[in-house]
Amino acid sequence: MHAIQILPEAVASQIAAGEVIERPASVVKELLENALDAGARQVTVRVEDAGRRLMEIADDGAGIAAAELPLAVTRHATSKLRSAEDLFHIQTLGFRGEALASIGSVSRLTLTSRPAQHAVGARLVVEGGTLRANEPLGTPEGTVVRVENLFFNVPARLKFLKRDITERQQIDALVTRYALAYPQVRFSLFQDGRAVLQTSGNGDRREILASLLGVDTARQMIEVALEDQDVRVQGYISPVALTRSNRREITFFVNGRWVQDSALSTALLQAYRTLLMVGRFPLAVLFVELDPEAVDVNVHPAKAEVRFRSPDAVFSGVQRAVRRALLTSSPVPQVSSGW
Ligand code: ADP
Ligand code: MG
Repeated sequence: MHAIQILPEAVASQIAAGEVIERPASVVKELLENALDAGARQVTVRVEDAGRRLMEIADDGAGIAAAELPLAVTRHATSKLRSAEDLFHIQTLGFRGEALASIGSVSRLTLTSRPAQHAVGARLVVEGGTLRANEPLGTPEGTVVRVENLFFNVPARLKFLKRDITERQQIDALVTRYALAYPQVRFSLFQDGRAVLQTSGNGDRREILASLLGVDTARQMIEVALEDQDVRVQGYISPVALTRSNRREITFFVNGRWVQDSALSTALLQAYRTLLMVGRFPLAVLFVELDPEAVDVNVHPAKAEVRFRSPDAVFSGVQRAVRRALLTSSPVPQVSSGW
């Protein structure tokens, strides 16, 4: 055993970054969330080498004032939260003030931004947590975040990355799901210069669904729409004849946030019970909306999990929404119990 020592700041940041930034797709997720929080109407994502070489997200949102750029890459610095109570009526996707600091500690991060009301913008570069440049710059309104050489200083992390094709697919799936969740925002995604996704921003989810699932599958999906007093459930589910051998095609968004919640999936599966063969799973993209005060979003570093104040009400809302959609979609075989 050695004597107790406070870790150097750089080491502490790298450890913290490990919780938030696991792979290229986690970078894209955080940057997309920031663009959406900034009220972007248009978001362009460029990826090179499956995110190893470059991930660039450009938005036309509110921008960051030049004087605040250094704060944007400082840990626990955020414009979205003031007090711990704010956590229970959070309207934004971000609130921890950690993403940019984390990304900057494990890559070369270039932040270029200009708020609409400012004549000039600025550019700031952080590499492995060290400030390299901070200078005024003429730039279009909005923000461009470039992340190069991810994990250049954490080789152990690099070794944990999957094959390029897998990392690329994760990014494609992520951006497409966010495009579905925010159909009024125009999304473009390029991988090595090739356009992978382009949405119109006209609010139509069906056409984005086709990008996620393929045209034929998307056409078969059943629309879900339930409006209750305290929960709203919208989205798409597969008919009983269209299944997969795993749960990977089940996606839930809660208040505009992609969450991995096994209880929500279970609620969905319950609604299909007796209709599917053992070991078969439906496809679903469901958007659950509830009062922000009914959701605790501060339970997971990457914000991938949430806690509900009244889980039963949420699960029963999901079940009712799904059952109703299945029943009204016609050729569902009649079953005996619970319907
Ligand atoms: P958080 O999103 O939790 O606040 P981040 O580290 O992701 O933390 O971002 C820090 C701050 O930088 C944000 O609170 C926001 O003020 C600003 N910011 C980051 N990205 C953008 C963007 N794309 N447009 C405008 N402001 C941004
Ligand atoms: Mg953020």
